[in-house]
Amino acid sequence: MTITELEALTQERRLVTAIPGPISQQMQARKDTAIARGVGTTLPVYVVAAAGGVLADVDGNQLIDFGSGIAVTTVGNSAPAVVDAVTQQVAAFTHTCFMVTPYEGYLRVAEELNRITPGDHDKRTVLFNSGAEAVENAVKIARAHTRRQAVVVFDHAYHGRTNLTMAMTAKNQPYKHGFGPFAGEVYRVPTSFPLRDGEIDGAAAAARAIDLIEKQVGADNVAAVVIEPIHGEGGFIVPAPGFLRDLQNWCTQAGAVFVADEVQTGFARTGAMFACEHEDVVPDLIVTAKGIAGGLPLSAVTGRAEIMDAPNAGGLGGTYGGNPLACAAALAVIDTIEREQLVARAAQIGETMIGRLTAMAADDPRIGDVRGRGAMIAIELVKPGTVEPDADLTKRIAAAAHAKGLVVLTCGTYGNVLRFLPPLSMPDHLLAEGLDILAETFGEIR
Ligand SMILES: *Cc1c(COP(=O)(O)O)cnc(C)c1O
Repeated sequence: MTITELEALTQERRLVTAIPGPISQQMQARKDTAIARGVGTTLPVYVVAAAGGVLADVDGNQLIDFGSGIAVTTVGNSAPAVVDAVTQQVAAFTHTCFMVTPYEGYLRVAEELNRITPGDHDKRTVLFNSGAEAVENAVKIARAHTRRQAVVVFDHAYHGRTNLTMAMTAKNQPYKHGFGPFAGEVYRVPTSFPLRDGEIDGAAAAARAIDLIEKQVGADNVAAVVIEPIHGEGGFIVPAPGFLRDLQNWCTQAGAVFVADEVQTGFARTGAMFACEHEDVVPDLIVTAKGIAGGLPLSAVTGRAEIMDAPNAGGLGGTYGGNPLACAAALAVIDTIEREQLVARAAQIGETMIGRLTAMAADDPRIGDVRGRGAMIAIELVKPGTVEPDADLTKRIAAAAHAKGLVVLTCGTYGNVLRFLPPLSMPDHLLAEGLDILAETFGEIR
């Protein structure tokens, strides 16, 4: 494709070959001989351009994007403000290493994160490259501050693929299998999972977790409690009201650091700038990545100054952390979210999705739950009349939607959750068309 063709990327679904098309199939065959098998691909269409709500592939197809590259291109793919900011920065300088000769972009991103994250206390920020790297550093900071070691995590948690974050992640296949031994001093307790918790409400679920922490770990040993305010990979599990608040209060009493992993839920995604805001929870540390910089690799830990300043100078950092291109992108992303009121847009997309999906669920007992917040919505597929997961149906629905040119992702500990994460630049007509395709797919697959 030429630049002119790219600029003319129309906001429409267009299928000109089977999905994946012949050129994508050839490329996928090359992948098998060039790239390690451990790197999977959900939908092997090879992308040449993306904008608004569509992805364009090498075969000339255009797909509706309900994935945003896993909640990353929240402001849209190649969003104009991001392209401009990065283009100017790449022409000025590409790298110095902030730890050697600093630059204002890093400083401004830190100031912005200190401003927009929950709470009006004195804050500090440090920047990294990936979500996993930021989670690891939040643990380092919490340990340095508390001089304790234990890290408490939850069932259905996902925190990344590095050694410490694998230990913190719940699910064995495919994230942990064969990759041990894992980091020590990581303790797992039950989360709040309303669909499967029966009578246990948020307060009771918190009490259940806290009891285990006190009996099996010991309050005095806990450096950090780390939780996603909505479990992402684990199945878009929204905890019952009060659960997060009770955990946070317990941390305050116990002198432990309450860390919100908002890598997936951050930056307007859930219809709030950060998902903790839905529960009026102010975390001690907040970990961000994914939606932060429109796809450029960037992540951050932001939190209370007295905790963040615990590690000695030189104890935190990295060669690329807070790369100038990524910082330029992040500033454009934050500005775009605020200027275009994308928090409200996410809430509106959520209402549309919940409305349609709830109507579908009313007629289809295989849809056992519709949940999530804002533009982070999922449906859980079960054997009718039970909460028994139906992973096979989930795979078949996803494959059929892919064949129709709709990019959807699956997730969940039991592999039975279809998740929808459209970019907030998704036009209404494509959002509706994507939901039509889903409804059609459920009608066809029995
Ligand atoms: C994706 C994700 C991570 C890991 O981020 P990477 O950038 O892939 O390392 C950590 N926590 C949550 C909640 C995530 O969704």
